[in-house]
Amino acid sequence: MTETFTGSFTQQEPIPEAGIAAALEVMRHGRLHRYNLAPGEVPEVARLEAEFAEYVGARYCLAVASGGYAMSTALRAMGAGPGTKVLSNAFTLAPVPGAIASVGAEPVFVGVTEALTIDLADLEAKIAATGATLLLLSHMRGHICDMDRLMALCEAAGVRVIEDCAHTMGASWRGVPSGRHGAAGCYSAQTYKHVNSGEGGFLVTDDAELAARAILLSGSYMLYDRHGAAPDPAVFEGLKLDTPNISGRMDNLRAAILRPQVAEIETACARWNARYHAVEEGLAGTPGLTVIERPAEEHFVGSSIQVLLLDWPDAAIEAVVAGCKARGVELKWFGAPAPQGFTSTYQHWRYAEPQPMPVSDRVLHGVLDMRLPLTFSLDDCALIARIIRDEVTTHAPARAAAE
Ligand SMILES: *Cc1c(COP(=O)(O)O)cnc(C)c1O
Repeated sequence: MTETFTGSFTQQEPIPEAGIAAALEVMRHGRLHRYNLAPGEVPEVARLEAEFAEYVGARYCLAVASGGYAMSTALRAMGAGPGTKVLSNAFTLAPVPGAIASVGAEPVFVGVTEALTIDLADLEAKIAATGATLLLLSHMRGHICDMDRLMALCEAAGVRVIEDCAHTMGASWRGVPSGRHGAAGCYSAQTYKHVNSGEGGFLVTDDAELAARAILLSGSYMLYDRHGAAPDPAVFEGLKLDTPNISGRMDNLRAAILRPQVAEIETACARWNARYHAVEEGLAGTPGLTVIERPAEEHFVGSSIQVLLLDWPDAAIEAVVAGCKARGVELKWFGAPAPQGFTSTYQHWRYAEPQPMPVSDRVLHGVLDMRLPLTFSLDDCALIARIIRDEVTTHAPARAAAE
């Protein structure tokens, strides 16, 4: 019997009832703007900032309009501008090089390993070759590199690190939360990430001046005393007249929706990981298919899963993707010659200098990616794994199957 799957890969869970109730409350009183307060009121956005800062153990947190905005604001606050070279991952999604381009800076792509993390040898070489002093490190699809080695390397070379944690909210490396290794951590609250307010983001840091600059940049109109996790007003004194307002604030409605989700994030992460392990287990040992090994130091959040079909010809990978699709399983292929949906690779970002990376190209060519929404049951995950295993076995080229 040919099994098929009928679930939706893009259906998230509903907003928690507490979030719906809080959002209704905000709509009833009408004060949606974060600085629009009744006497003595602490607005939802400020509460959310304080709660998120506490959750990740950061001194300062700024809630903003998107993850992309958090990254561009961190870059700008750290002095990136026209002509600045910013190192970043070749394996990431379009908003990351887009954040670099948005401040007029130039992305310098760093290669990817078969573990789907940044290639530290290539990073070292590119730091030496370009003299770049900023790294926008993308923990793409939740894969965290050896953060001890990365930070040691960057500190020795005088490179400051901004972490893109769009896929690692709730994750950690040797117990340190993702986003807390570098100078700043950026998170997204967009529908397909780990908390869902449609659009939204966070920037966290322990650096008072960076936090003050980011708050001013986000459009605080000198109302920075109405924040939930901001530095002392004195820190703003020397900065406030020299920092442009580039509006990207979060509003109270989104914050109301997010607060109960942040409170329950650990539970959500455990449920994602149960789904991830169900698929991983079902795929283990499939000939020609490589499951990504996860290091013991990495506490990840399995909100998606990636596998490699290394050295497979295009036609065979296309046949697997088409075969799975016909049976209801949506795999995204990062090696496709043209970007499809959210997949794209560094060659498709033509506003950046062309930067050939053959070793990374081999890895990217083989990457298949699949979302694991919490609306899937564990049985769904086991079924999905059986379908993928079946299609990979059917279409495996003779050489890969013989390995
Ligand atoms: C979604 C995403 C972002 C940015 O998030 P937005 O909130 O959509 O701007 C950043 N990095 C990666 C890897 C992402 O997938």
